[in-house]
Amino acid sequence: MKRQPFVLAGTAVAPGARATLEIPLAGLYTHTPIYMPVQVVHGRREGPVVFVSGAIHGDEINGVEIIRRLLRSPLLKRMNGTLIAVPIVNIYGFHSRSRYLPDRRDLNRSFPGSDSGSLAARLADTFLSNVVRAADIGIDLHTAAIYRENLPQIRADLTDPILAPLARTFGAPVLLHSAAPEGSLRRAAADEGIPVMVYEASEALYFDEVAIRVGVRGIFHVLRALDMLPRAKRSPRHTVVLRTSSWVRAENSGILRILVGLGAAVEQGTVMGVISDPFGEGESQVVAPAASVVIGRSNLPLVFEGEALFHLARTRQAEHVEEHFEVTQGIVDEPTPDLVDEPPIV
Ligand SMILES: [Zn+2]
Repeated sequence: MKRQPFVLAGTAVAPGARATLEIPLAGLYTHTPIYMPVQVVHGRREGPVVFVSGAIHGDEINGVEIIRRLLRSPLLKRMNGTLIAVPIVNIYGFHSRSRYLPDRRDLNRSFPGSDSGSLAARLADTFLSNVVRAADIGIDLHTAAIYRENLPQIRADLTDPILAPLARTFGAPVLLHSAAPEGSLRRAAADEGIPVMVYEASEALYFDEVAIRVGVRGIFHVLRALDMLPRAKRSPRHTVVLRTSSWVRAENSGILRILVGLGAAVEQGTVMGVISDPFGEGESQVVAPAASVVIGRSNLPLVFEGEALFHLARTRQAEHVEEHFEVTQGIVDEPTPDLVDEPPIV
């Protein structure tokens, strides 16, 4: 039987076709209409429907470049199933280079939203109704918040039997098991039986070639595991599963000298940074509470007491993760046969 067209926001996409659609959103107060642009790639043959989303936080732009490379890939011509690509979910924040919406809300704390709520609630509802509910599985692309950076990592609920193997397949250097925060897309989708994994890597308002390449390759591995693409000759990179993480915060305000990088293995007592005043008096050390690996950190040397400085995941494999992340950096020199040949961003 011939595959049916895929209908999204009132537009039908024929099997074997690709279409860019515009989902209407609340306009600007300048008489300017606003749309969420979405590209649908509807394969000729049956298969799962996967959505990939970026910039739910408007300043987290790495995902936009990941999705651009994904959509330019010649491999998609042979794809089974359907890909819904939404490079910029939070159009408003993307324009103002901000994590938030003009109503100062965080979209990723506003799900499931509603069509009669705040601007953020309405945007969440539009995205959930039109995109998420049309899909079987989702991959949501993020970076750390401004002035922070994350080790490339997948976050997923590993108790989900569908999600767990796919999250491993992605092949990020680490996979953090975590419950999705209240109000997040990941939580709202899971509540409706649609598993979503989050890819977190690098920093806001920045293109990081390593993080982008790990992301693009990871999405291909997931699509292959779902039999949407032919199986790879190369298997995914090994991923280290981490189960608990917590932030080490500043004990006092001051100017921070950071001494450990992303992916660094730390022991109990390792000095990760030193906080001092501008005169170098009254120094205090920021110390690791247990053997861990640094999966996120602040990169701003100016800190207030209580500020989150180092995101540590406890593991006995910290040394292993450190080596693993060093090897991962080599991804920028590897060939990318599945992608359009383009020079790396440096
Ligand atoms: Zn984010």
